[in-house]
Order: sequence, then C-alpha cells, then structure tokens
Amino acid sequence: MKVMKFGGTSVGSAQRMKDVAKLITSRGRNLIVLSAMSGTTNSLVEISDYLYKKNVDGAKETINLLESKYRRVISELYSTDEYRDKATEAIGNCLKYIRSFSKDIFTMFEEREILAQGELMSTALLNLYLQEIGTNCVLLPALDFMRTDKNAEADTHYIGEHLTAMMKEYPDADLFLTQGYICRNAYGEIDNLKRGGSDLTASIIGSVISADEIEIWTDIDGMHNNDPRFVEGTKPVAELNFEEAAELAYFGAKILHPTCILPAKLNNIPVRLLNTMQPDAPGTLIHNSSEAHRIKAVAAKDNITAIKIKSGRMLLAYGFLRKVFEIFETYKTPIDMIATSEVGVSVTIDNEHNIEHILNDLKKFGTVTVDRDMVIICVVGDLEWNNRGFEARATDALRDIPVRMISYGGSNFNISFLVRKEDKVEALNALSRNLFD
Ligand code: ASP
Ligand code: MG
Repeated sequence: MKVMKFGGTSVGSAQRMKDVAKLITSRGRNLIVLSAMSGTTNSLVEISDYLYKKNVDGAKETINLLESKYRRVISELYSTDEYRDKATEAIGNCLKYIRSFSKDIFTMFEEREILAQGELMSTALLNLYLQEIGTNCVLLPALDFMRTDKNAEADTHYIGEHLTAMMKEYPDADLFLTQGYICRNAYGEIDNLKRGGSDLTASIIGSVISADEIEIWTDIDGMHNNDPRFVEGTKPVAELNFEEAAELAYFGAKILHPTCILPAKLNNIPVRLLNTMQPDAPGTLIHNSSEAHRIKAVAAKDNITAIKIKSGRMLLAYGFLRKVFEIFETYKTPIDMIATSEVGVSVTIDNEHNIEHILNDLKKFGTVTVDRDMVIICVVGDLEWNNRGFEARATDALRDIPVRMISYGGSNFNISFLVRKEDKVEALNALSRNLFD
C-alpha cells in the first residue's frame, strides 16, 4: 500500500478534483491524504483574524466568498442532484460551524477549529465524488486517529494502533481517504501540524502503516538539478537521498521540509515527488541509499550577508569561536555557512534584523568586515572526502568568478560557495556545464 498526498493546487478546482479521482482510482488500494483546496486555509486564517479583532462583518464577508467558491465547485463536480445535495449539506455544515463563532470570545482554540474546516471540506467533496463514480472509498476522519503528544510531536504509537484498527474494519475498501494537516493534541482538542503540515501527515501515516512508498503529488515534475529560472535545460533529479534533500531544502528548492520527511527517513520509507499534470513522469525519488560518484543538483540562496571577524587573539586560543557564536545566539540569528582560518572566521546570515547589535558586540573581539548582497551556491551529491575530483570540478567551474567563501566537509553531501549577487547566474550556469554536461 502507498500513501498518496495531494496538495491544495492538485485539488484546487472541480476539474483538478476529477483529475485526482482518475489518478487514484487507477493505482490500486492506497491511502490518500488531502490538503484543503488552494486558498481555503488562507481564507480561514483571514476569517480568524477578523474574529480576533471582533470584526464580525469582515469575517462574514470572507465566509460568503468562501461559500460562493464551494457552491461553484459543487455545481461543476457532480453530475447528479443527489450528490450535489449531499455535498451542499456537508459543506453547509462546515460553513455553519465557521459562522457560529461570530459572537463570543475568540481564542486560539476556536481558531484551530476554524482552520480544520478546510481539509474537512476538501475530503468531503472528493469522497462524495468517488462514491458518485462508483468507487468504494472509505473516509477515515483524521481527528479520530491523528494525535500529538505533550511535546506537540506525533504520537506514533497511538496513531498506528488506531489507524490500523480503523482500516481493518473495511476489508472491501477500494481506497482510503483522510485529511492532512489536522489532528488532536494531547488534551483531545482540535489542533494542526502547522501550515504546510499535510506533507508531515503523509510522512507519519506512511511510517506507521509501513507503506511501500509515500507519494507527494504537486504540480512540478520533481526536483530539478539547477534553477530553471536561470539555467536552460535543467532536468528532474531521479534520485536523492534524505540528506541531500535536507541540504537542498534550505535553498528553497521545490522539495519537502526536512522535518516533514523525518518520519519517512527514520522508518526507511521512500518518498517520491510526482506531478499531477504528468502522472507518468518518474519524478524524484528520495530514499536512504545514495548513488555513489554522482553530483545531483545545484541551488542558490539570495540575500546573504557575510561577516568576517579577524583577531590575533584567535591564534592558539580556545573558546574564541564560542564567544562569537554566542553573540548570534543572543540575537536569535541563525548562522548558515562558516569558514575559519587560524586568525579569523567568516560566517553568513540571511536575516539582518539584529545586525547592528551583532556587529557592535563582535567588535569587542576583533576587526569586523561585512559583505552584503551575496549568494550561497550549493552543490549537492556524493561529496564524500575520499572521492577524488568532484570538489575540484565544482571549484574549477568557478575559476573566473570571485569566490568569497568555500565550505566543504561539513557533510558528505555538499560543498557551498559564497559569491556576489551579480555573479550568481554565471556561477549556476558554469556549474551545470562542468558537472552535468
Ligand atoms: N491546508 C494547510 C495549509 O495550507 C496544510 C497543507 O496544505 O499542507 O497550510
Ligand atoms: Mg504544501
């Protein structure tokens, strides 16, 4: 059995829902995880915002817009009045519930209940459509088995036990369907796994039922080996291991957040990124094994600031780096890349919020220089230090470009370069030529 997760845009309209239905009814007995229709969770956030501010009219207007959207979807999705009526009733109940919050006090508890309606509506609509076309689909309510513990982490034991028991009750089911994102917390209250949490739902479910694979369906054909906005002829990467995927996540690559795939990684369940527009394309497979001697992808991150601290006091001293890092910690500023020498250290940050304080404090320890408008270029693949040649090929590609920092050896899977913003496109293209052609 596989877990197949469809994001908001994949179910964003009546037509897209029909496409999803066609896809899932032709691929065997799987468990489907659905997000809210695209835009819905944002509308629910907006409604809650109005209610926090006691602006009931603002909330009502947004609810009415949502209602007309769903009315349109219902009229286009079903071909019989019987199912249009059933869907109108199901959506009507959710909207009535959202409207019921207009008067009294409004806190985060009520907000979470409102936020849960998006996934409840999308799954109700798809479930009814599947019934209308004659599929024996069983809707498993996520609120009956998805639960977090006191640390707000998935209670996998509870989830596994309850989900398996629920599925056993339906030996004849063609398909199972459930909501992404929503859950109950340790106190039994309605809660969620944070924005974008449906990927995490899929990963948790895939792990607890030991799925053959977790498929994440979106509208791109997997993860590309370079940024298609700046480099021509990029190709989808066939395979990545979980560590490579985690390195790329920081670069905004179209990939899952590392925390989302952690349950899959730990339980050794492969994750595949697939495209609903091209269902037969192989996509990108993320798993625990790594392909030796392959460079997989290049990615870039903009708006990076480099800070260099140079000090004679660093020579042969211990504790110097700790003092430097502590300053960044005090101002809650993550450090991304580091390069050190015996008498200096350079670090990069992507958040300048507290930079004035940071620079002030750093000046106590040495001479400080700042370079702004820099870009981190990251090369991901088999960069284990015993291998020969790959780091040389990456560095060689950048021979005509001024490189401010290089970071290598932090993991077996990456080498990063810091270059000027104006050199980014040239650097990405040069790396593609040297590594992939
Ligand atoms: N519907 C939720 C959101 O928009 C969860 C998800 O789509 O993953 O954040
Ligand atoms: Mg998403």
